[in-house]
Amino acid sequence: MHEQQEFLLLHNVHKYFSGVHAVNNLSLSIKKGEIHCLAGENGSGKSTLIKIISGIHTPEEGQILINGRQQTSLSPAQAISHGIQVIYQDFSLFNNLTVAENLTFNANLARKKQFINWHEIKKEAHSALSRLEIDIDLNREVGTLSVAQKQLIAIARALMFNARLLIMDEPTTALTGREVKVLFDIVRGIRAEGISILFVSHKMREMLEISDWITVIRNGSKVAEGPTSEFDEKLLTWHMTGQQFSHEKYFCPEKTEIPRLELRNFCGRAFTDINLQLYRKEIVGITGLLGSGRTELAQALFGMEPNFLGEVIIDGEPVTLRSIQQAIASGIAYVPEDRLSEGLFLSQSILRNILATTLDDHKTTLFFDRKKANIKAAGMVEDLTINTVNIRNSVSTLSGGNQQRVVLAKWLLTQARVLILNGPTVGVDVGSKAEIHQKIRTITSEKALSVLMISDDIQELVYNCNRILIMHRGRFIDEIPAEKTEENDINNRLKELI
Ligand code: ADP
Ligand code: MG
Repeated sequence: MHEQQEFLLLHNVHKYFSGVHAVNNLSLSIKKGEIHCLAGENGSGKSTLIKIISGIHTPEEGQILINGRQQTSLSPAQAISHGIQVIYQDFSLFNNLTVAENLTFNANLARKKQFINWHEIKKEAHSALSRLEIDIDLNREVGTLSVAQKQLIAIARALMFNARLLIMDEPTTALTGREVKVLFDIVRGIRAEGISILFVSHKMREMLEISDWITVIRNGSKVAEGPTSEFDEKLLTWHMTGQQFSHEKYFCPEKTEIPRLELRNFCGRAFTDINLQLYRKEIVGITGLLGSGRTELAQALFGMEPNFLGEVIIDGEPVTLRSIQQAIASGIAYVPEDRLSEGLFLSQSILRNILATTLDDHKTTLFFDRKKANIKAAGMVEDLTINTVNIRNSVSTLSGGNQQRVVLAKWLLTQARVLILNGPTVGVDVGSKAEIHQKIRTITSEKALSVLMISDDIQELVYNCNRILIMHRGRFIDEIPAEKTEENDINNRLKELI
């Protein structure tokens, strides 16, 4: 239970920024020697709360108690004198100074010393590092260290000021999996000294692994709190977003039939020797670092790179993809990365955009039934819950999420067999995103499509794909079955490639 002695208590705290109620009636209790997670989505008020605790922002209402004593006002210097230390995301280190100089810089300032005793500096710096069992050369310039090493220096420096509460704002953002483990060991060691840690994050798995207690905030208000053992990823997501998402991974059909799409030694400008088999009802993810060649691969499949080498086979038949027209005729549809410039005619109506590809299809047909097409388009608007009062309004009147649905609708009305989605929910808010995912899954299954989903959003891939291919320098270097993997495994794999 949460019964140890309290180090910090916030009581009904409010903070406003010109109309924004950034922190709303928030109470928070941090016990001595606990790892306390502050969980919340971007913009939920986490950084503002840190700034209140560290004396940078003064709340308009509410009380702050440190060691049971109410603070009438809390300045940054007072916060520090109470042992409150913040490790900011940029670590606030001097790159052109050595490790030893960085470690002792603030201490020397505080002592207002005129003469620098180098021997003393070395000794203090050395003991700061050995306390955490960190082995970094004191004479090295901080600018030459890795991000993880800089972070350790920042932690060591914070602890030199008789820290009682160490606040870490999103500390794992730039770390590899191995570095996160090192950090966590150090954080646990600090807890063992009776020091409290406020670990600010939005990464579920890390919070569940490291913390003793979790407080979840949303829109500046506390929405949940409790011992970490009472939470799991699903519950945390629900509290952080206020929405219930189905996190069941996508069903993987058996691969008995011939592949819907097969690539044999597919080579282009930015990719080589791509071999791939995509089956009906299968969603396959592709991810990689910037410049991995995945967008070029998608474009080549959509007929935008006529000079490719190798074979493309759809439902057992070799196809030619020397132009976009040929790609569409072969049943390939592509929802590009930049829907505004590539996917939509912004000044045209929603209806016109949805029917754009279908109209092209029927240019040569004698009996194109426009009425029927309009009804189909209206059905799509309903199916995809495109939020508009009138289908004849221009596409530019829609939100990003709804524009993305228009692009999807357009392709779903064609006789697509293979659907390529590039960043299908980039810039789309979290609620819309879950809905778009659901539509993609339903349609893939109902229409027996094969879907290639290219994305940097690893969670999106893990939830929606049967398997995930990692592309690097134009080649597939890994194939990971989504059912056996978690977001972090793939993130770590990608970090190794940097
Ligand atoms: P988080 O750290 O959880 O991403 P923040 O605390 O940075 O969230 O922001 C919470 C809310 O307060 C946001 O709506 C943000 O735009 C607003 N906000 C934060 N700092 C300021 C500021 N100095 N001036 C105006 N608005 C701010
Ligand atoms: Mg923040």
